[in-house]
Amino acid sequence: MENTYVVLHGLKDLRLETKPIPPLADDDVLVRIKKVGLCGTDLSMVYKGRTGDLQVQYPTGVGHEVSAVVSQCGKNVTHVKTGDRVTVEPGSFCRQCDLCLAGKYNVCAKSSFHSDVALYPGCLARYFKYKAHLIHKLPDSVSDEEGAIVEPLAVAVHACRRAEVSAGCSMLVTGAGPIGLLCLVTAKAFGATNILVTDIKDSRLAMAKRMGADHTLLVTSGDAQSQAQQVQQIMGYQPDITMECSGTKEGLSLGIYATKSRGKLVQVGLSAPEVTVPLVHAGVREIDIIGVYRYLNCYPIAINLLAKKLVDVKPLITHRFNFEEFQKAFDMFYSAEDGAIKCMISC
Ligand SMILES: [Zn+2]
Ligand SMILES: [Zn+2]
Repeated sequence: MENTYVVLHGLKDLRLETKPIPPLADDDVLVRIKKVGLCGTDLSMVYKGRTGDLQVQYPTGVGHEVSAVVSQCGKNVTHVKTGDRVTVEPGSFCRQCDLCLAGKYNVCAKSSFHSDVALYPGCLARYFKYKAHLIHKLPDSVSDEEGAIVEPLAVAVHACRRAEVSAGCSMLVTGAGPIGLLCLVTAKAFGATNILVTDIKDSRLAMAKRMGADHTLLVTSGDAQSQAQQVQQIMGYQPDITMECSGTKEGLSLGIYATKSRGKLVQVGLSAPEVTVPLVHAGVREIDIIGVYRYLNCYPIAINLLAKKLVDVKPLITHRFNFEEFQKAFDMFYSAEDGAIKCMISC
C-alpha cells in the first residue's frame, strides 16, 4: 500500500510525495486521514522556518490536527479496531524519565513534536502510522471536523488546568486567534463567568463575541498600562487570570499590568524567544507567570467537552479545502484573507 503526503523541503517549499507505507510494528496503528486543520505552527514552519525557539529541520511533514479512521492495527493493539473513528495526539515521548513517569510527558526532554522525524510524514497525508497509545477514539457525537480540533482544544484544556480556572472566576484573554478563542470557550465550560478578549482586529473580536466573550477590547492604540486600565473599567475589576494567546510582548505586558495582584498570567502564545516586559511589576504584585506547552492527558477531556456539547468550536472553521489544494490553503491562511481563522483540509 502507498501513502501520498505533503512534505516541507525548505522555506515555502511544500511538495507532494508518494511512498510505500512501512510495515506496522505490534504497537502501531495505521489510520486513513479524514480532516486536517491548519494552525499557526504549520504556518510558522512553512513561512518562517521555525516554531517558538526551535529551528525546523528539513525535510519535515506538516499537519498535526487531525481526525481519521483506523485502517490497520498492530497485533498488540486492543483499544481501537479497524473502522473506528479516531484522532491523533502528536508528539511521542520516552515513557521512562521521571517527568514521563510523573505524567508530565509534555515536557519530557526526549519529546519529539517539532524537531524531528516523529511526524515525518505528517498528518497532511492520505495515511498516517503512529503509536497506538496516542490514538484516541472519537464518539459518534463528535464530527470529523470537530475531531480535527481536539488537538488545539487540548492546549486550551491544559491552559485552563494550569490556571486552575474554576466557577465564577474572571479572565482576560489577549489574542483572539484559534487558541485564544478555544481558551475562551473552554474557560467558560470550566466555569469562568466574566471574560474579556482583546485583539488588534475587529473581525476577530466579533468572532470572540459570537463565541461567548462577555466583553471585547480593540488594542490598536495606547500603551499596556492604559489598556490595562480600560480592561479594569470594562470588567469592573482586575481579572483573576490572564491567558496570553497573542504570542506578543504587548500581550504579555498588558497581562502583567491587567491581572489582579496574586492572580495568574498563563503564557499560552509563543512570542519571540527573548522579550522585554515589566517583570518587576509582576513580582511586586505576586502575579504567578505560568508556562504552557501543548497538553498532557487532555485529549479525553477535550473529546468529552465536544461530545457533551459543552464547547462549540464549529464557528472557528472559516475555510475548507481538498487535499490537492493544500498550497492554496496555506497561502490563503497565511495572508489571512477574509479573516481566516481555521482552514480544514479534507484528505
Ligand atoms: Zn496546532
Ligand atoms: Zn520522558
